[in-house]
Amino acid sequence: MAEAPEPREHAESAHLSAIAEEHTRDADEVERHPCPRCAVAPGSPCRSRSGAVAGAYHTGRFTKIPRLRI
Ligand SMILES: [Zn+2]
Repeated sequence: MAEAPEPREHAESAHLSAIAEEHTRDADEVERHPCPRCAVAPGSPCRSRSGAVAGAYHTGRFTKIPRLRI
């Protein structure tokens, strides 16, 4: 049963990697600015109050980038 290749599956994974690429670029832009909330320097991810790397960037950091402002 080695037949029936699915072209749909291929198109889907190409779509997914395009999304991943977009996210990487957004993170790069966010990291270009210091965070007004936790005061990390440009190039660093956000930190929580305990000093651990936060799972997500603080909202204030996104407002520096018009394209990402909500
Ligand atoms: Zn922050």
